[in-house]
Amino acid sequence: MVNEFHVGLNAAALLLALTLLIFTFIRKRTDRAQNVVFLLMLTAILINSSTEIISEFVFAYQKANPGFLVVRQITTFLYFFVHSMLALFFALYVGCVTRVITKISDRRSFVYSIPFIVSEIFVITNPFLHLVYYFDEDGRFTRNWGEAVIYIAAAIYMVLGLVVMLHLWEGLTIRKRWSLIYFFGMVIVGLVIQLLYKDIKSELYGEALAMLGVVMTIETEDGLVEPVTGIYNRTALHADLQNYRRLTSELELIFVRITNMDNILRNSGTKDINRLTDEVSEYLKTLIHRYYIYNVDPGQFVIIKNIDVGDKGRKIMGRLFKNFETSLTTDEIIAGIRERFNEEWQIGKYSIKLDTTIIKAEFPDNLSSSDEIFFLINSFVPSNLQGKVLSGRDLDFLMRRTAVEQAVNRGLMEKGFEVYYQPTYNLSDLKLHGAEALLRLHDKELGNVFPDEFIPVVEQMGLIDEVDDYVLRCVCEFINTGVIQKYNMASINVNLSVLQCMRNGFVERITDIVKGYGVPAEYITFEITESVGADDYDKLMKVMERLREAGFRFAMDDYGTGYSNMRSVFSLNYDFIKIDKSILWGAEESELGRIILENSVKMIKEMNKRIVVEGVETEEQINMLRTLEVDFLQGFYFSKPVPKNEFVRLVEAAR
Ligand code: C2E
Ligand code: CA
Ligand code: CA
Repeated sequence: MVNEFHVGLNAAALLLALTLLIFTFIRKRTDRAQNVVFLLMLTAILINSSTEIISEFVFAYQKANPGFLVVRQITTFLYFFVHSMLALFFALYVGCVTRVITKISDRRSFVYSIPFIVSEIFVITNPFLHLVYYFDEDGRFTRNWGEAVIYIAAAIYMVLGLVVMLHLWEGLTIRKRWSLIYFFGMVIVGLVIQLLYKDIKSELYGEALAMLGVVMTIETEDGLVEPVTGIYNRTALHADLQNYRRLTSELELIFVRITNMDNILRNSGTKDINRLTDEVSEYLKTLIHRYYIYNVDPGQFVIIKNIDVGDKGRKIMGRLFKNFETSLTTDEIIAGIRERFNEEWQIGKYSIKLDTTIIKAEFPDNLSSSDEIFFLINSFVPSNLQGKVLSGRDLDFLMRRTAVEQAVNRGLMEKGFEVYYQPTYNLSDLKLHGAEALLRLHDKELGNVFPDEFIPVVEQMGLIDEVDDYVLRCVCEFINTGVIQKYNMASINVNLSVLQCMRNGFVERITDIVKGYGVPAEYITFEITESVGADDYDKLMKVMERLREAGFRFAMDDYGTGYSNMRSVFSLNYDFIKIDKSILWGAEESELGRIILENSVKMIKEMNKRIVVEGVETEEQINMLRTLEVDFLQGFYFSKPVPKNEFVRLVEAAR
């Protein structure tokens, strides 16, 4: 009599495993060590449910035909042979999902495989020693004590898997947690039922169900890969980094950034971007396996190299599946990428040259958290560093830059910007002449950030209008408190970005703001640093002319630092020339420096412009400037830039 219930349950397990196997192949998710272990588990379930079904039939007909006993001996042997592997596969699978497998040293991996080796020895020697099971004279299957050994080995792996899972619980995504709970739950329920009720062969069915759960969650990679390229996305990078960080002390990351993506997008559209991403991904896959490559943004790829695995050799997985670990070093991968990007890419009908910047970073040396890794992805690469391979020190700069960008955004939202004032003095009587408004950024994370650092960032972020308007408003409010009249000041100086002066509608915006506050234009002097090219020159001249007509005055900032200064001193209508502090300081250091300062002063005076010297720090400097007869002084000797209340206290005290 065939036990139809046994056959039914095993047939269900067989069909389920077969379905999952087919779908795994259809989805082509078979290239990762984890996938391979998964396929092995499915295959083991498939073989075991088949052998169980055959054994069942053979048992029913054995009496009629003694030849069947041989078949049964074979299927039973196969069953135990494969079954002893299953628990090991489970543990390996958990190890792969949690990425713990890459951490295990060679010696420990041998220790971990001892239970497996022992149970296989029992199984393989069973045809001669009959320690696990045997068939009695009536052809009945009889267990021996060796079977307990196999069960204990299996139990060890189950416990090991559970321990790993619980140990790395924090690093697992919610999705992985639930699917591993389901996985273990199903396997254990199936086992327990079968142990309690010998007549319900539920073990394999439970295992097959466990696999189904895994397919629906872990193995799908839905939402983690780009459908076209099969490359992991930003979400996947996020999840993987979490795991890697708990497991490895060191990681190397390669950021590949295509810098002319915007142009391509403008010229040819998104369809080509997709094709291009596809092409680049295909190429990267020839260097390293797809599960180390992440496409985090259009034109931005991140590659993770796990140093532990790469250098210390082929750990368990590596040895079993050699081709799953790349043999290229990080530098070799970078060299490969550079070589390829020197050539053109064929996108449809066009061939395009792609400009790249490659960043090589080490975790935790250069980057200490996954937040910083994402920082770096979005960071601004200045044009002088583009097209290079950046590493080490270059990265500090990038990280800082991104941090400053974020501080600027915070500053604009949370009112972190504050205008400081630095007084200027008449040289003749050392009385207060005016003040320069200088911007400060107070940030809760970076502390005080200085304008030399954040102004260029603000300019690149396209926020300079907003920031300069803010300064102008603060200055207008300050003037409206009556400081100018009360302390008999000439004006307050406001720095303007040249970039900003060139914008359309600039003059109107400035005059509207100042009119809005009812501030007379002659109370404001704009400082401009000359750094524009010749063709913008005429435009700047026109802008200045219109603002002068409105009553504003102009100071040329940083005289002596740029190359076009001479020409603009002649042709642009400045009221003041501010000689840069480097010129003053240089005059103390060398004879040549002194000649430069003296002649600059002489020349400017001959052009009837008034001179401000900044960076005055000592009494000797004042004495030297007195002999040169400049007009105004500004510097730490008198005061550093200070908040407006302090400025008021300061000038009040000097009265
Ligand atoms: P700048 O216009 O040449 O400003 C003078 C800089 O020299 C200020 O630095 C000031 O603190 C510093 N300084 C003044 N006297 C001395 C001295 O005796 N010794 C030393 N060692 N330094 C002195 P700060 O405030 O860091 O500003 C740097 C630059 O940032 C400014 O150079 C200006 O180009 C820019 N900036 C500042 N505020 C604004 C603003 O509101 N808008 C724009 N567009 N740029 C600004
Ligand atoms: Ca200035
Ligand atoms: Ca200056």
